[in-house]
Parts: sequence; C-alpha cells; structure tokens
Amino acid sequence: MKRKFSEVDNGENTSGEKGTWALGLLKAMNNPNSVLKTDNKVTMIKDLYPKARHHFLVLPNKDISDLKTVQPEHLGMLRHMDKIAKEYVQENYPGVNFMIGYHAEASMHRLHLHVISDDLDSTAMKTKKHWNSFATKFFINSKDIRQSLANNGSVQLPTKEQCKQYLDTALKCHKCDFKPKHMPDLKKHILTHLK
Ligand code: AMP
Ligand code: ZN
Repeated sequence: MKRKFSEVDNGENTSGEKGTWALGLLKAMNNPNSVLKTDNKVTMIKDLYPKARHHFLVLPNKDISDLKTVQPEHLGMLRHMDKIAKEYVQENYPGVNFMIGYHAEASMHRLHLHVISDDLDSTAMKTKKHWNSFATKFFINSKDIRQSLANNGSVQLPTKEQCKQYLDTALKCHKCDFKPKHMPDLKKHILTHLK
C-alpha cells in the first residue's frame, strides 16, 4: 500500500499500513493519562515514543490537518501553541533546552508541534530516520514556520525529494562535528554533551 505520509515511522507501526495507528494523537488528546495541559484552543500531550528525555506534542483542538493546510488566519493559533509549550517547559523543566518545531512531513494525523529536549537521548530514538527527523532541516523551528506563513501566505516546505535527502543524510552529532558510524556509536557520543 502506498503511504501518504512521511516514512518516519515511530518504530511501533509494524503493520506497514497507515490506518488507525495514524489517528493515535487524536485518541491521546482524549486520554487523561496523556494530556498534560489543555485550554479551549489547544491540547498538550506526552509523546508516547519520546525521542529525547522530554518530548511533548501540542495540537490545535480544531481540526487543522497539517502544515500544508495552514492558512494565515491560523497564525494566532500557531503562536498560542508555542506559548503553551514554552510556559509548560519553563515551569516544569527550568534550565533544560528544548527544540520547538515541526517535522517537514508528518506521519500522524492533525497538525502537531514537537516540544523536545535537545539531548535527543532516548531508547525510542532507534533509527537514522528518527535521528535525522530532529537533527536536520527536516525539523523546522516553529518561528520559521510562522515567518514563512506570514511572508508567503502559506508555509513553504521542502519537497518530497529534499525530505528524503534530509532523512537519508549521514549521521552527525547535532552538537559537534562528530560523525558516528552507526546509531549505537552516536547514542554513546551524545551522552558526552550532557551535564
Ligand atoms: P510526526 O513524525 O511529526 O508525525 O511525529 C509523530 C509523533 O507522534 C512521534 O514523535 C511519535 O513518537 C508520536 N506518537 C505516535 N503515536 C502516538 C500516540 N498514540 N500517542 C502519543 N504520541 C504518539
Ligand atoms: Zn557531539
């Protein structure tokens, strides 16, 4: 079956099909065990397969499907998603650096903002694609998304080919020039950047 969404599986979709699995975030938004914070506009949830020590997602309550469908009228919503994310991490994880942004191509339904600590240290961080989805231009800072939307009237995204290139990039540490041979090498190396 041809997959409509990105090839960055989360290591848990073993069926090879994008069915109810891709609706998981919508289910999580209604699960009190997953929800960290909510208001009338957005919901913040735990990422079920965290790719760092702290990894959360913020989604609009309104059904905005993805970055491609985001319109200038959503700018306020995008700003609010960032605000909720920043407030949460400042309150709960003071002093921890977070990356706040979007995957250029999403694998799950509904627009979702990644809020992820920049250690990228997690047992669920298993593959090169996982790594590159956060450590290359496949990960787009929220501020850049808003700027692109404000300047162009829609979000300018990398092409499918560019996305593939980003995900296939040779492994490299996101904090220094170290080029590991493989993921186990990299996972060991990133610990040297932790306090
Ligand atoms: P993306 O590649 O931007 O679509 O990222 C989807 C994110 O959702 C990944 O970080 C997954 O670990 C996470 N995820 C997948 N299924 C669930 C779920 N059921 N509940 C919460 N997070 C999930
Ligand atoms: Zn390094």
